[in-house]
Amino acid sequence: MRYAVFGNPVLHSLSPRLHLAFAAQFNLPIVYEAFQVTEDELLLQIERFRTMDGKGFNVTAPYKQILCNQVVEMTQRAQYMQAVNTVTIKDGKLYGDNTDGVGFIRDLTIRHAITVQQKDILILGSGGAVPAILSELLALQPRNIMIANRDINKAKKVVKNMSAIKVLSYDDLIDQNFDIIINATSAGIKKEILPLPNKFNFKNAVCYDLNYLPETTQFLVDATIKGAKKTINGLGMLLEQAAESFYVWHNVRPELNSVVSRL
Ligand code: NDP
Repeated sequence: MRYAVFGNPVLHSLSPRLHLAFAAQFNLPIVYEAFQVTEDELLLQIERFRTMDGKGFNVTAPYKQILCNQVVEMTQRAQYMQAVNTVTIKDGKLYGDNTDGVGFIRDLTIRHAITVQQKDILILGSGGAVPAILSELLALQPRNIMIANRDINKAKKVVKNMSAIKVLSYDDLIDQNFDIIINATSAGIKKEILPLPNKFNFKNAVCYDLNYLPETTQFLVDATIKGAKKTINGLGMLLEQAAESFYVWHNVRPELNSVVSRL
């Protein structure tokens, strides 16, 4: 049974190791490869994979949005996010899903036991990952959600007509208190510094960085130094979204703790 991940860059991806470890728990004989492809090559390589009897594949940055136009059907959560990270191939047709949101919320609320209800939440960034985490957070009824992004118009687009969500610039973030601060920017992976004001208040907040490479980003270092209650990187989200993809394909849920300790 052939599976794969397509992206660029993707050679650093942990997905092959995760899916092989999950499959070993059920004695499933799978192959899982990583294909680093340019946008020009993407569709051709997916077609090649399909004709070689591929059963399904993951899609990572920057192709999650492009895949929406390549699948015959999308789950409701993928439609809402307008992004696909999990594709199932059935009778030669591609079916799209998105497991990022559920991966994030399971990691935050189950693995780390963080309560979202009635909390004040700040999300930094407005890229492709934000609709996924936003929809899951909203379902748990926080008191407030605010979004800050360098490009304010991009943040407004993500929020669309959700009037309950406030869009801010980084300069607006002085003198505000948050219970949960989520770094959904790609600053960490690029080793860049977020434009947070000097007086930004991390005190007593749970700080979650979607990035897991490097393991500790500057955001998490600053949060620790400046009094955050807890810091979490995105490795758990990666695991949970991979486990959900595995469930979509094989209809069984892998046990994650042994996989975490091996990683
Ligand atoms: P996108 O490329 O779609 O968006 C990037 C966002 O980061 C934009 O809002 C951009 O702001 C912001 N940004 C980039 N650099 C900086 C900077 N130096 N300072 C402030 N803001 C910055 O990325 P995604 O939304 O797809 O993913 C975001 C991150 O989350 C990625 O690093 C990705 O690897 C990680 N991720 C992790 C997952 C996991 O399973 N752990 C799953 C999905 C994503 P602007 O619009 O102003 O340019």
